[in-house]
Amino acid sequence: MTSGRREGDTWDAASGVGATATMAAAVRAVASRGEGRLIDDRFAEALVRAVGIEFLTRLASGEVADTVEQLWIDMAVVRTKFYDEFFLDATNAGIRQAVILASGLDSRAYRLPWAAGTVVYEVDQPEVVEFKTRTLAELGAAPTAERRVAAVDLRDDWPEVLRRAGFDPGRATAWSAEGLLGYLPPEAQDELLDNITELSAPGSRVATESRPNPQPGDEGRTKEGLDRISEQWSAHGYAPDMARLRYFGERNEAGPYLSERGWVLDGVSVRDLFAANGFTSLKGDEMRMGDMLYVSGALGEAAK
Ligand code: SAM
Repeated sequence: MTSGRREGDTWDAASGVGATATMAAAVRAVASRGEGRLIDDRFAEALVRAVGIEFLTRLASGEVADTVEQLWIDMAVVRTKFYDEFFLDATNAGIRQAVILASGLDSRAYRLPWAAGTVVYEVDQPEVVEFKTRTLAELGAAPTAERRVAAVDLRDDWPEVLRRAGFDPGRATAWSAEGLLGYLPPEAQDELLDNITELSAPGSRVATESRPNPQPGDEGRTKEGLDRISEQWSAHGYAPDMARLRYFGERNEAGPYLSERGWVLDGVSVRDLFAANGFTSLKGDEMRMGDMLYVSGALGEAAK
């Protein structure tokens, strides 16, 4: 299966892979509405509005909420909760340095109750991080930690840019790579996980997704699922070709790859997280979303 990606491609929050950050924020905005809401991303809607893709603005503001399947709203809930809890646990355990890789329009640096003295680094393409910095400043939002940005492509020498931004490899770090790995070529994923390991002082923690390798037919079904969303949205005037933004094919599974490099991880499947929240929208699960694991843990010891 071919990808529409090429080496060195770049984007902002409205184009290419960057638009997936805006889609993720739009779905978080939907999931943050209503009485029984399970997450509260209070910056998501304003960020989406500022990007200026009309359909996604309407989605985030609740006007066309029926164009997003319940499955994606439930995914946004379990995913946001998983990473929020990961960072809160790390903070409570005394970790004062965090790195959010592929931060997109994630607002954790502005909404989590970080302990005093915490430095949060956000890493993404230059136009994506700069857009968020500017937009949230214009909205009068202040970070809840010392926020520093590393504007760089994660296929390039991002550790150097992170160091230049002040990152201290001698301090324990909490790392996240949320919604990123499928947008990296397999070798760039390995390199990213190697770099995380190399830059991690004892006591560091990591959280990411570990997708099982595809079985015959899986990728065709995933592509069909993504094409169905693209078609549905194009009826509203927005037609991203989502299937062409990803890299398909075999790759190392992130969980086992990290474990082999000294990380002691726990994993929980999307299926189990849905069941724990009483969500039933995985019915059918043609894209095998339920099999994906959220993994987290520490270097050389189990996360407490
Ligand atoms: N983590 C955010 C969230 O969950 O809302 C954003 C997820 S979005 C699906 C994917 C993000 O990965 C985008 O912000 C995109 O810019 C970033 N990304 C993908 N490949 C990248 C690369 N090579 N360099 C820098 N950022 C990248």
